[in-house]
Order: sequence, then structure tokens, then C-alpha cells
Amino acid sequence: MALIHVLDEVTINKIAAGEVVERPASVIKELLENSLDAGATSIEVEIADGGTSYMRVTDNGSGMTEEDARLAVLRHATSKIKSVDDLFDIASLGFRGEALASIASVSHFSLTTRKVDQELGTQILIDGGKFTDCLPFGAQPGTTIEVRDLFFNTPARRKFLKTERTEGAKIQDIVGKLALSNPHVAFKLINNDTVSIVVPGNGNLMDTVSALYGYKVSDDIFPIAYESEGITIHGVVSKPTLLKSSRIWQTIVVNNRVISDKAITKAIDNAYHALLPKGGYPLVLLTISVPPASVDINVHPRKSEVKFEDDKPVFKAVYHAVLQALQNPLQQGQGQNSW
Ligand code: ADP
Ligand code: MG
Repeated sequence: MALIHVLDEVTINKIAAGEVVERPASVIKELLENSLDAGATSIEVEIADGGTSYMRVTDNGSGMTEEDARLAVLRHATSKIKSVDDLFDIASLGFRGEALASIASVSHFSLTTRKVDQELGTQILIDGGKFTDCLPFGAQPGTTIEVRDLFFNTPARRKFLKTERTEGAKIQDIVGKLALSNPHVAFKLINNDTVSIVVPGNGNLMDTVSALYGYKVSDDIFPIAYESEGITIHGVVSKPTLLKSSRIWQTIVVNNRVISDKAITKAIDNAYHALLPKGGYPLVLLTISVPPASVDINVHPRKSEVKFEDDKPVFKAVYHAVLQALQNPLQQGQGQNSW
């Protein structure tokens, strides 16, 4: 008898989930990205106990037919790419077709969805990766996904979670960052029955920043508008007096993806250089566009990093963009901006 066997689907999904779903905030990120890809203009998130016991994302996006909803929860099933060539110029945030299958394999999962032109929606229930039910369901147009008891069947994973407060803060962080990168989408976050984020989605970045960080910050931030050699950068930087003790107020968006990137972070730090006290981090939002062919987005299962063909021009552009934004208003004696 052969020693080697091909793993069953439930086991494969559970293993893959280890890469995609690190913690409740990774679930929220994947679900929000799906909602954005579905063209939602309004997204509501509700969580309890830092997301560990309950998470729900409701959107007013395209919704799915029953046939598509059944496919959506399968691994490597995606409507977003057909071949690997599509990755070189991709408009959607998702493309791996892994998130829903992974999330459903490590939780009690339900997907409720309806297309606007359908009378009735569909609900699919999955328990720890095992399909339990698919039924017609009365629902608003759009999609709602509920995730209960994350990692209930992978106790080792569950043990690695931080306190509910910390996990909740990570969710708050990713919802805020996705709101900043999509100012035309309304977001609401309800955390343990308390509304903790409401952004209007009116397309005005300043309103989004104020809604997230408080109305007073608008006095202390400057806009960025920079372009050089095919790289454009928009966003805001704060005066070096508006600080946090961590990078919680720093958001980097590359070609519409919220990512983290060491070179870009270093360029920000270099631009502020001597202006900052030790351990102080300014508010920075950088929305960077680079030619799609110059960046590989498929380098990380959680899509939280990208790989630039050459990161030097990006580093240089970020450095100059931040420096320019910091210097210009000060030179002109403007403390505020009207935009
Ligand atoms: P990916 O986003 O990489 O395609 P997912 O597992 O996240 O993979 O989702 C699988 C598919 O399910 C998507 O390609 C999309 O067609 C569909 N889908 C997921 N979430 C939504 C949603 N909120 N609204 C409409 N369709 C969705
Ligand atoms: Mg997805």
C-alpha cells in the first residue's frame, strides 16, 4: 500500500486557512475586499468579543446567484481571474479564490446573498468546512457573511490569539484603512454593540480622515499630490506634532491595495527625519499608483505585501512626496488647507 495519499478537501482547506486566516482581522479584511470587489457602496461590519465569537459583514454589492454562491465557497473558485496572465493588470482585490473556503473551514459559516434582479436569495451554511445546507432565503440585495467561533476546530490556532481587546483593535485598524483607501464607500463598524466607525463614503478623503481620527486632526494635516516617472502619490501627512506612539495612523495603499512595505515606511521616516521625537509616529496616508507591470501582487497569501520590480523609484517618490507636502504649507505659512 502506498504511503502517500492525496489529502481530502476538508483537510486541504484547513491547512490553507492557516496561511490566509491568521486572526479575526484577516477574516474581516478578506470579506471587506470581496464586498469592494462586488461594487458595494455601503458596508456594515459587526463583531463581538474581538471577532472571536462573532463577525458579520453585510454589503450592498452585486450579490450572487445560487449557482455562484455554491461555487464561491469552493477552494480556487474565483470570478476574478481566468489565467495567471490576468494578474499583471488586475483591477480586483481578490484573485486567489481561497478566502471563503478557508474561512468556512475554521468556523461556523453562513453566506446569504441575493442579486438585485432576483426575487429570492440563497443561504449556504458550512460548519468547520462541512457543507450543511443551501436554501432559498429572503434577503436584501447584496451579500451577508457571518462567521462564528473562529478556529473552534483548530485549538492551536485559537490559542495564539491575543486578548479580545487587541483582536478588536486590529479589526478597527483594517476597517479604517480600507475606508481610507475607498473614500467613496460608506463603512460602519459595530463592536460589541457599540458603533465605533462611521464614515460617510461621500468621496471626500478629508471627511473620511476626520470621521476616523477626529475632526481636530484636519487642522494639522497637509495634502499630498505628487507625480514623477509614472508614479503618482496622493494622500495626507500630519504636522510632526500630531503623533501616535505606534504606526497605527500610517496607511500605505499601492494600486488600491492596503499593504505594508519596509522601503516605503523607511522613506516616510527619512522624510520626517529630524522633525520627530523618538517613538513618535505621524499620521500618514499614501495612496500610491505605479504601472501595474512594475509590481507583483501575488507574493503573499494574505496579499498584505507586494513586490516592486525595483523599489528605488518608489522609495524616492515617497520620500520627495512627503517632504514636499511637509515643506510647502510651512513655507507658505499655511497651517490649514482648503480641499
Ligand atoms: P477571490 O476573492 O480571490 O475570488 P474568495 O474566496 O474571497 O476568492 O471569493 C470567491 C468568489 O465569491 C469571488 O470571486 C466572488 O465571485 C464571490 N464573492 C465573494 N464574496 C462576495 C460578495 N460579498 N459579493 C459578491 N460576490 C462575492
Ligand atoms: Mg476574496
